Amino acid sequence: MNQFFTYISNISNELTANEQLLNQLDGSIGDGDHGTNIVRGFKAIVAKKDQFIENQSIDKSLMICAQTLMSTVGGTSGALLATAMMKMAVVFKNSPAINNQVMASGLQAAEDGILNLGRTKLGNGTMLDAIHPTIEAFKNSNDSLNFKGAYEAALKGAQDTIAMKKLSGRASYLGDRSINNMDPGAKSISLIFKALSETK
Ligand code: ADP
Ligand code: MG
Repeated sequence: MNQFFTYISNISNELTANEQLLNQLDGSIGDGDHGTNIVRGFKAIVAKKDQFIENQSIDKSLMICAQTLMSTVGGTSGALLATAMMKMAVVFKNSPAINNQVMASGLQAAEDGILNLGRTKLGNGTMLDAIHPTIEAFKNSNDSLNFKGAYEAALKGAQDTIAMKKLSGRASYLGDRSINNMDPGAKSISLIFKALSETK
């Protein structure tokens, strides 16, 4: 089995298992569709199984994922995650092997893409607040790919969004009432790294 596809299908399963929770989180500060959106997108990726053929490069695989999210997700999160994947693909394409430093560079490019497209900032209580801490987790590691450290960092990042006043996207319409809620997109990011960290 293609290892990339194994990672992607485990992510899809993890998100699917949490679809209702993600919808509930989005229901509190948005329009309640985040779980439905992201699960639709990842299921559409998994349905393209045949395209993730043996030895397909990671950058090409990420581009397939990005295009699929872009055309199936609908919500803001789809465009943002698609951009993140495209930016990572460019970094990976130009790297001979993917190690912790390359992961950190890829995620930095993803962050820059989201900052730009989302016209957002760190600390605004979005998915970015779960992505950003993973960069340091990879940077500070020399061993095998540190998905476990990245997961712990993303989990803390998602927890930290609870106390933040949300300043980007739909949640920003709520003002102070957005405080005391975890951002659904940040939760999704932590689930993605959970699945990566648990993949054998
Ligand atoms: P929509 O907001 O269009 O309904 P989703 O519900 O699928 O899309 O996704 C909402 C998530 O997308 C939020 O929880 C947040 O993490 C992220 N998000 C929305 N707008 C922005 C933005 N401008 N910048 C960064 N992230 C954003
Ligand atoms: Mg929504």
